[in-house]
Amino acid sequence: MIYAEKIYKSFGALSVLKGVDFSVKRSEVVAIIGSSGSGKSTLLRCLNNLEQIDSGNIAIENKWMVQNNKANKAVYVADQEIKMICSKMGMVFQHFNLFPHMTVLQNIIEAPMIVKKMQRSEIELLAQELLSKVGLSDKYNYYPSQLSGGQKQRVAIARALAMQPDIMLFDEPTSALDPELTGEVLKTMQKLVEDKMTMVIVTHEMGFAREVADTVLFMDSGVIVEAGPAKALFDNPQNLRTQEFLSSMFK
Ligand code: ADP
Ligand code: MG
Repeated sequence: MIYAEKIYKSFGALSVLKGVDFSVKRSEVVAIIGSSGSGKSTLLRCLNNLEQIDSGNIAIENKWMVQNNKANKAVYVADQEIKMICSKMGMVFQHFNLFPHMTVLQNIIEAPMIVKKMQRSEIELLAQELLSKVGLSDKYNYYPSQLSGGQKQRVAIARALAMQPDIMLFDEPTSALDPELTGEVLKTMQKLVEDKMTMVIVTHEMGFAREVADTVLFMDSGVIVEAGPAKALFDNPQNLRTQEFLSSMFK
């Protein structure tokens, strides 16, 4: 579903991704862990074209979005095609990013109506289904300011799902939440795992990652230092940096 090879990305003089190789199979759940500043968000943002890479190859569902030329410089396909490719991916951010002046329902139906040209009646039906899936059936007429952080994040998940993505990318979806609200969001994500959604999740929730992820990647300073099955990586990390990171998390 995702194939990324030799990804390099700098911001000016700051080299942030330094040769990341990474792939995700259909229905696989991949968790990315690592300390702040290691490049996790940048990697996700490169996958759905919120940032452009300097060098490397990325294919989504067997379609090349960007490939190196002979000089190892990344060359992107046409804009229209990039849009098509990225429309297969939904993304959920740490800070929800809901439209504050729109109700929950409007937040969910906006993009499908405009981008996918779906009929209002059709998308409203889907929105109701999704709200019920995330446990917020009764909140469709509320504004974001009337919701708790956990509720806002569940609306953000429903909004991403309304575009009917094949892949969901999550960037620390619970990091801005009080601990007592984290569980309801993780439970919603757990449901997506049960539905066999393909997911990439950047998270500091180690217990959740250990339980739901098939594969865990540990990133440090712009490289993937260690990757493996969740339980093996958490219980028996091979790399010294992974060991140090995990012991700092469980201190
Ligand atoms: P993480 O998500 O692992 O905390 P990030 O990918 O957000 O790490 O950031 C990696 C590094 O890239 C950090 O040093 C950050 O300051 C830098 N960075 C991220 N985005 C930008 C940007 N748009 N411009 C300049 N530097 C950035
Ligand atoms: Mg980040």
